[in-house]
Amino acid sequence: MKKYLFTPGPAPVPPEVLLEMAQPLIHHRTPEFSVVLDSARERMKPLYGTRQEVILLTASGTGAMEAAVTNLLQPGEEAIFVNGGKFGERWGKLIEAHGGVAREIKVEWGRAVRVEQVAEALRAYPRARALFVQASETSSCALHPIEPLGALTRERDVMLVVDGITSVGVIEQKMDAWGIDALVTGSQKALMLPPGLAMIALSERALERMKKNRAPRYYFDLRRELKAQCEEHITAYTPAVGLVFGLRKSLELILAEGLPQVFARHELMARATRAAGVALGLGLIAPDNPAPGVTGLLAPEGLDTGKVVRAMRDRLGVSVQGGQDQMKGRLIRIGHMGHMGPLDVLVVIGALEIALKQLGHRFASGAGVAAAQAVIESWN
Ligand SMILES: *Cc1c(COP(=O)(O)O)cnc(C)c1O
Repeated sequence: MKKYLFTPGPAPVPPEVLLEMAQPLIHHRTPEFSVVLDSARERMKPLYGTRQEVILLTASGTGAMEAAVTNLLQPGEEAIFVNGGKFGERWGKLIEAHGGVAREIKVEWGRAVRVEQVAEALRAYPRARALFVQASETSSCALHPIEPLGALTRERDVMLVVDGITSVGVIEQKMDAWGIDALVTGSQKALMLPPGLAMIALSERALERMKKNRAPRYYFDLRRELKAQCEEHITAYTPAVGLVFGLRKSLELILAEGLPQVFARHELMARATRAAGVALGLGLIAPDNPAPGVTGLLAPEGLDTGKVVRAMRDRLGVSVQGGQDQMKGRLIRIGHMGHMGPLDVLVVIGALEIALKQLGHRFASGAGVAAAQAVIESWN
C-alpha cells in the first residue's frame, strides 16, 4: 500500500532529490565536490535571509544546536532559554551539559513567548550572554516572535540563538535584518531531504565571540569548519556527500518555485489543516500563533490520540505524530512541510476523519475535508 508521510520531520523527499542522491559516490576532497558544496551553501543564504556564510555539519539538527552552544558559550557563563516545549527544553539541557548556567523562561505549550517576558529575564539576569529560542516550537506547534527579540538582544551583549529547524524554508527568516546571531536548521524538515545534515550561520559579532570562546569542542569546532568550508571549499571531516548533492538539488527546486510562493503554500496548507480540525470538533493547541509547518489538533476528552495515530498509520498508511511528554495522548500533530501541496491536506484530513470515525468520535463525515477544500478554493 502507498505510504504517506505527514510527520513534522522527517518529511517527504521529492523524486528529483532522490534521483540526485542515487548517483555513484564521489570523493569529498575533489574540485567536483567543492563546486556542489559551495553552491549548496550559497543557496541556503536566501532561506536564512543572510549574507553570512552558512556552514554544513554532518549531524541531525541537534548537532547544530550543540555547535551553537559550545561555540558561543563558555562553562560557567549564564544563558537564558525559552522553554515552550520539547525543543526549548533541549536548549536548557544543552547549556547545562556544557557547563553553562541555564535560566529558563517557561512558556505554556501552544503559547508564544511574550516579548515582555524576555525583557524581564534580560533585566533579571544581566550577566546572561545569550538567549536561546525556537522560531517554531515543533512539539507545541507554536511560533515565537523572533524579530522583536532581536530588537532586545542587539542592544546588549547577548547573542540571539534561534532554532529554525521547522521555520527555515517554511516562513521568512531575516537573520541579518532581525539581528539573529546564530540560526540553525536541519535537513529532514522543510528542506525536503532525509535526516543527516545540519546547518548554522553566525553573525559578525557571533563570529567574534566564537573566536574568543575557549570552551572545549572538537567535531563541532566552527572555527575549523568555517576555515575548511569558506577558504578551502571542503569540509573538515567526511561529509554526508549524497545529502550535500541532495541539498543543492532541493534548494534549486525551492528557489525555482520562489520563496514567497513557498511561504504562501505553507501558509495555505496550515490554514486548510486548522479549518479542517475545527470543523471536526478538535481544538487548536496554538490558536493565536500557529506554526505554518505543523498543525497541532487537540482531541476531545476521552479520545487517546495515540490510537488515532496508529489507526491512520496501520490501516491507511498515513503517518502523523502524536503529542510528546505532557501532550502524549492528547495531541495530533500533522506536518505540512516541504514537498507537499494543498491537495495533500485533503488526503491527511480524509485519513484523520476515517480513523476518528472508527474510534467513535462523532461528526458529519466529510466535514473536515470540506472545510479544508473551502480554504483551498478561496486561494488565488
Ligand atoms: C526536529 C527538530 C529538532 C531536532 O532535530 P533532530 O534532527 O532530531 O536532531 C530541533 N528543533 C526543532 C524545532 C525541531 O523541529
